[in-house]
Amino acid sequence: MIQLDRVSKRYPIPGGGGRDALRQVSLTLPAGELTFLTGHSGAGKSTLLKLIMMIERPTAGEVLVDGVPLSTVGTSGIPYIRRKIGMVHQNHQLLFDRSVFDNVALPLVIAGFPRADIGKRVRAALDKVGLLSKEKLNPVMLSGGEQQRIGIARAVVNKPPLLLADEPTGNLDPALSAEIMDLFQDFANVGVAVLIATHDLSLIDRYDHRLLSLRDGRLVADREEPAHGA
Ligand code: ADP
Ligand code: ADP
Repeated sequence: MIQLDRVSKRYPIPGGGGRDALRQVSLTLPAGELTFLTGHSGAGKSTLLKLIMMIERPTAGEVLVDGVPLSTVGTSGIPYIRRKIGMVHQNHQLLFDRSVFDNVALPLVIAGFPRADIGKRVRAALDKVGLLSKEKLNPVMLSGGEQQRIGIARAVVNKPPLLLADEPTGNLDPALSAEIMDLFQDFANVGVAVLIATHDLSLIDRYDHRLLSLRDGRLVADREEPAHGA
């Protein structure tokens, strides 16, 4: 689903030189698998997500999304790549001036889906996160866990084959985090490649998912088996 082949990213520093945010990173994220991405602040997690989303371009190496080498994708092709990717943010970035339904519908409205189609897809996404009954409410009336689930419904409403999450449980207690993790697992079970960037070692420890660790821009660990007492 996603492949990185010896990807490096160097940000220019004003006045000369550069900062290496990623160095020679190679990895594959297959469809139907849930993967954690971890590393200290500054290790390169956000940069990796930005390269996949085409917010940044690599300095060297190649990123492939759904088999498409991103070096071959020009600016006009970026929306086409982004449509394959659902993004879940830590602070969910919901709009409090409109209903739950309209928040989830937003990506489809922007992509120009027909009205009737939008209703069907939004309700399917809300049903998947267990919040169909709340479609008319303003998200401000929902709990933190419910708001995060709305954020997830919005990320998956156009059925992207890839789901990226940046600290999706950052503001949630362990019980709510577990709910969100169950949802991600459901998407992996239907074939979505799920990548969860997190600092939360207790979260990583509770699940035996694959773990990618970055340190100073290098991939230092790629484990398939559970970590104990990390
Ligand atoms: P993380 O998400 O793991 O905290 P980042 O990918 O944000 O790591 O950052 C990796 C390194 O790249 C850090 O040293 C950071 O300061 C640097 N960096 C990130 N974005 C920029 C940028 N736009 N310009 C210059 N340096 C940056
Ligand atoms: P349909 O065409 O009937 O809407 P699809 O063939 O696109 O359904 O998908 C088959 C099943 O896989 C659907 O029931 C859907 O729940 C699930 N699915 C596939 N990809 C995703 C995704 N990215 N997010 C949520 N569900 C998905």
